[in-house]
Amino acid sequence: ARSDGLEGQVSGARVIAQALKTQDVNYMFGIVGIPVTEIALAAQEVGIRYIGMRNEQAACYAASAVGYLTGRPGVCLVVSGPGLIHGLGGMANANMNCWPLIVIGGSSERSQETMGAFQEFPQAVRSSIYGRPGACYVDIPADFVNLQVNVNSIKYVECCMPPPVSMAETSAVRMAASVIRNAKQPLVIIGKGAAYAHAEESIRKLVEQCKLPFLPTPMGKGVIRDNHPNCVAAARSRALQFADVIVLLGARLNWILHFGLPPRYQPDVKFIQVDICAEELGNNVRPAVTLLGDINAVTKQELASKKSLPMNYYTVFYHVQEQLPRDCFVVSEGANTMDIGRTVLQNYLPRHRLDAGTFGTMGVGLGFAIAAAIVAKDRNPGKRVICVEGDSAFGFSGMEVETICRYNLPIVLLVVNNNGIYQGFDTDSWKEMLKFGDATTVAPPMSLLPHSHYEHVMTAFGGKGYFVQTPEELQKSLRQSLADTTNPSLINIMIEPQATRKAQDFHWLTQSNL
Ligand code: ADP
Ligand code: MG
Repeated sequence: ARSDGLEGQVSGARVIAQALKTQDVNYMFGIVGIPVTEIALAAQEVGIRYIGMRNEQAACYAASAVGYLTGRPGVCLVVSGPGLIHGLGGMANANMNCWPLIVIGGSSERSQETMGAFQEFPQAVRSSIYGRPGACYVDIPADFVNLQVNVNSIKYVECCMPPPVSMAETSAVRMAASVIRNAKQPLVIIGKGAAYAHAEESIRKLVEQCKLPFLPTPMGKGVIRDNHPNCVAAARSRALQFADVIVLLGARLNWILHFGLPPRYQPDVKFIQVDICAEELGNNVRPAVTLLGDINAVTKQELASKKSLPMNYYTVFYHVQEQLPRDCFVVSEGANTMDIGRTVLQNYLPRHRLDAGTFGTMGVGLGFAIAAAIVAKDRNPGKRVICVEGDSAFGFSGMEVETICRYNLPIVLLVVNNNGIYQGFDTDSWKEMLKFGDATTVAPPMSLLPHSHYEHVMTAFGGKGYFVQTPEELQKSLRQSLADTTNPSLINIMIEPQATRKAQDFHWLTQSNL
């Protein structure tokens, strides 16, 4: 029982503290004075940590950093007048940093009859963390702090939910994927918005799967570790200067990033800007693609969209290289297939690479593979033969699959299928084209029948056949083929019909086919 006869009564300060606690606000920094001392005491009573500082500015910096680190706003408690004015520096800093913060100032008395429900807090908490995070100020009149109210008259608004997560428009996601894919010198810039968004997992996946170099801003550091092989921080200026596509993840094109303008950047660099704040999009430069949404969600959208896009040579060889046994024979023929395969597929032993050779002959692949498999059988049982064929190259000696099956040689045949010689057409364009005339008159001589199921050549003779369109399917079928040491297999890998190799830096190389 209370001696003051205020049974069932609580102070305004206690209501404020409880309202904060209910909103999952757990840290308060400040300097006490009239009339806010009671608020600090009440905060401690309800389990909020109170850290007394020496200047409101530092208190405000601290409270905003707590907001950045935890995602729930910290409180900076100040007295009115000079206290609030000192706090302004911290509020401005929080706002510029896009960090959530609540500043509570005590002002002079107001003649206020009752207090009732306390609505400002949920609103302040919500607006500090929803949309672009930032600072909020709540002004508490002195008489509110000491007012006694009946507990039963108070209704705390329940804890506001974490900010809703928004995704970007689907067409923009697809457009961004295509711009990234066609980039020659892409660069990802990771800002503190990405850190605040907890997007580390998805960004790392994007960077690794798309083999993208990245550069952190000062506070974007650590979203992906600084010693990651794709980190180009050591060559920051060059990375900025030579990028043709830049993916901006939660970083603004302000002075820290030289405004996104020449001479620090290419004049025609394409920016793909991801930000939660619509007003930020298009600041200083006109982006090629804008993605309005939460960085984590948008990065996941990009990853998903990448999966639905057809593979290109580099994706295919990247996944093949990952699984190839180091001591295997690699046989390869085709145009782009052999050409790009040369740069990506590794050999570790002499006399273990066989390809179109001096004469540039197409059709040698299956014969070479059979020879390697026979030799391996005699001399190194268990050693594998991988035969990487373009779809056109495969056609020159595809019937040797019967030979492979007859002698039960566990060769793994990969047909990198782009529906043509050098390049081909997708099924829809092919059908569209045939509306204009007979294939002999309208089809480019380079094209082969789209969507051909070359794997059936293998199944026809009892081997294993796979038709794959995604990296996952490729990984899985290759794993199964390599695990099977007795049967031959053929993996028909569909890639983008128009896929080519990356543009060459040296103009005299661009005409080369081999
Ligand atoms: P840096 O200093 O690292 O360059 P900036 O402060 O310039 O970073 O930019 C951070 C950007 O991140 C701001 O434009 C902000 O709107 C944005 N941002 C904050 N949180 C998110 C989020 N969850 N998703 C997307 N963008 C966010
Ligand atoms: Mg920035």
